[in-house]
Amino acid sequence: MEEKNTANENTAHYLSKARALIEARQQKAGRRLRAFTRHFGCQQNVADGERIDGMLAEMGYDFCDSPDGADLIIFNTCAVRENAEDRIFGNAGALKHQKARNPGLIIGLCGCMVQQKHIAAKLRKSYPHVDLLFGPSALPKLPELLCRKLEEKGRVFEILDPTAEIAEDLPVRRESGIKVLVSIMYGCDNFCSYCVVPYVRGRERSRGHAKILDDVRGLVGSGFKEIMLLGQNVNSYRDGGKDFVGLLRDICGIHGDFRLRFMTSHPKDCSRELIDTIAECGQIVKHLHLPVQSGSDRILEKMNRGYTARQYLDIIAYAKEKIPGVSFTGDVIVGFPGETYEDVQKTIALIREVGYQSLFTFIYSKRAGTAAEKLDDPVSDEQKGIWFRELLDVQNEISKAHYEKLVGSILTVLAEGKGKNGEGWLTGRTGSNIIVDFEAPESLTGSFVQVEITAALNWALKGNLIKI
Ligand code: SAH
Ligand code: SF4
Repeated sequence: MEEKNTANENTAHYLSKARALIEARQQKAGRRLRAFTRHFGCQQNVADGERIDGMLAEMGYDFCDSPDGADLIIFNTCAVRENAEDRIFGNAGALKHQKARNPGLIIGLCGCMVQQKHIAAKLRKSYPHVDLLFGPSALPKLPELLCRKLEEKGRVFEILDPTAEIAEDLPVRRESGIKVLVSIMYGCDNFCSYCVVPYVRGRERSRGHAKILDDVRGLVGSGFKEIMLLGQNVNSYRDGGKDFVGLLRDICGIHGDFRLRFMTSHPKDCSRELIDTIAECGQIVKHLHLPVQSGSDRILEKMNRGYTARQYLDIIAYAKEKIPGVSFTGDVIVGFPGETYEDVQKTIALIREVGYQSLFTFIYSKRAGTAAEKLDDPVSDEQKGIWFRELLDVQNEISKAHYEKLVGSILTVLAEGKGKNGEGWLTGRTGSNIIVDFEAPESLTGSFVQVEITAALNWALKGNLIKI
């Protein structure tokens, strides 16, 4: 699915310049040029990736599924944990030989990892085969940077102030014609002590309320069935007098057959009014992704999260009371500096009380430049691993029970296409984002259907289509 929009002036100028340069290269090569891109990390990076791909398509690139045979390779990186970065170093290192075989190959790294000074310095020094380095805020400059490279002006580095102006209307290339990501705000002001995001994505800035509404209206009009509003902290969205609740209510006023989800919500900004809005608006899914990080007040304070475990549980209790059938997912970090086994037990107790549908669990990863970097971290990695597995076992048990409880119920599923079960089967997702496989004709792809759940599998459900 490709959409063409009017890019801002600078981007538009370089898009057409790059198109001409690429066309000349294509003529010389006697074939179309191919790009291979991979977008790691969070949904925001996926949304950025859709813009990268959109600009590349606009410049004339075809896309290929493997780096072999590509003329341009771009890795859009994540910096949230060290293992994400190690993966990129590994992937980028592996391209050295390919570049040696094909000196015309252009290799680019972008995204949050590149925005960090020490990483950019390491890439510049020890990865000389990488041609392009640019941070998330330089994304609209991709056509310009590529022009510089195509004109043989050497390696190109563009790491800007992370709090850049929001670039609207860049070209987009999406995988799905059914579900769509809509960024509503960028950056983060929360400075949780473990987190690198505020440093690499800059200060919070919200997109214009009217512009978002216009975009959503257009997307619903062109047939998208699921709108996912995105931001590091969506519930601190603000444009003039409009806050997140106002935005949600206005989007729900748009006429059309669609459902609305959003992430990520921060518990400290999760008001009763927001929960009432979820309860009242039919289009909003009855599911909240609400990362808690820890169930211990001592650790929450050290994390600078701005709430206590009790305050978090009060929100959950209010949501359970107001929204029938509501389900929750969240994020938890194990092994934060100074955490003890007693703290982990408090997190486990909280997990049991909430009864999460599923949980994203992470072992703490020290990030350069964050406040937690300087804290004493006496617990060994082995010990953290043992705590982590204990917590995961509890959550797996809770998830299993949650899925099994759904057997026998009738759920609304958005059919997304053919599943892994082969001919005659479709796969889709419930409002709370659980995968459901069911027998149905392919023509139902892209519609909301009612499915009676017959079995709970590992991380998915199976059911029968209810014929209306
Ligand atoms: N803005 C979102 C997402 C942030 S990153 C939010 O606040 O929820 C996604 C998750 O990664 C976080 O919720 C946290 O659980 C995890 N995370 C962030 N920094 C981390 C670190 N240094 N070590 C381990 N996990 C981390
Ligand atoms: Fe990171 Fe906290 Fe901001 Fe989420 S809210 S992006 S965890 S600083």
